[in-house]
Amino acid sequence: MERKVNFNPGPATLPLPALEKARDALVDYEGLGLGLLEMSHRSKPYEEIHFGAMDLLRELMGIPSDYEILFLGGGASTQFFHVPMNFLGEGKVASYLNTGTWSKKAIKEAKKFGKVVIAASSEEDRFTRLPSADEIEIDPASVYVHMTSNNTIVGTQWKTFPDTGTIPLICDMSSDILSRKVDVPQFGMIYAGAQKNLGPAGLTVVIIRKDLVEACPDASPTMVDYRTHVGKSSLFNTPPVFAIFVMKEVLQWVKDKGGLEAVEKENDAKTDLVYGLMDKRPDFFRGTVVDKESRSNMNVTMRLPTEALEATFLEKADKEGFVGLKGHRSVGGIRVSMYNALSLDGIRKLAAFMEDFASANA
Ligand SMILES: *Cc1c(COP(=O)(O)O)cnc(C)c1O
Repeated sequence: MERKVNFNPGPATLPLPALEKARDALVDYEGLGLGLLEMSHRSKPYEEIHFGAMDLLRELMGIPSDYEILFLGGGASTQFFHVPMNFLGEGKVASYLNTGTWSKKAIKEAKKFGKVVIAASSEEDRFTRLPSADEIEIDPASVYVHMTSNNTIVGTQWKTFPDTGTIPLICDMSSDILSRKVDVPQFGMIYAGAQKNLGPAGLTVVIIRKDLVEACPDASPTMVDYRTHVGKSSLFNTPPVFAIFVMKEVLQWVKDKGGLEAVEKENDAKTDLVYGLMDKRPDFFRGTVVDKESRSNMNVTMRLPTEALEATFLEKADKEGFVGLKGHRSVGGIRVSMYNALSLDGIRKLAAFMEDFASANA
């Protein structure tokens, strides 16, 4: 089978070795005579997968022992309300950085539980840049500060994170977790839907500092309360076993590549190729992110000179085996999503195609 070069923004391309392991595990898991989907989540083979995945994630991201790792369901969108249900509440304040569609959705949910202060926003500029450090004003009474590290739709990404002092920083890292080294102790909590860089949809990873878990109010529904999942190592109820299995294989693939350092280096090379080309032909490939410092290494957004050219570009790209390049409807144009599993070779091919397309149509 000829696999496409897959630029889908999420669910997204996954490493082939992980997919092959998943295929083999479906019908007969390691010669046990039953498939992975048919096994108890309380069985020894599953426990090895579950805790193996946690250990690998801890090792790769350098997650210190005073942080818990949780495997939950519901996607990142469920964390939009789990976070305020656990930490916010009447008479309490949380600060939010408003940098795109996903931030806005998180803000909308938080407002249902307590007071939300917008510490900074780039909405006036249609999110085409990130707020600068001196624009950020955190309410000192905040119980936490919430931000989105990579804005998947508009194509911006924080290169450094704001210093929130003793106020816990909570970060939605759905679309750039594991793409670069991050200093976990900068955060009180990190969460991510798995379907961009980690594995299949249906799994949400939460990394949370232990002292924050202990602060959760008693009134929360059992499944919302982080203490429930910490206490049972994410085996309180049936976890998304298959997604966790595939994630473990993705994590192993990252480790085999040389860990986050190697992955980050390759991601930088991919980014340099695409943005390099855009900077060479700025009249043709019109980056929608105005401030270069704010550009994302995961999702590159651009418009071409006309909508007709954009349609032709997508059509021709499809014929070449490039899929998933259409920009989000709120931005339009082209979006090149290049998560970890999208190879440098795939980007080289796309860059050559873009170069030819520009020469033929400029
Ligand atoms: C994709 C995405 C989400 C939504 O994730 P779900 O798992 O579908 O809820 C949230 N935040 C960011 C930054 C995303 O990229």
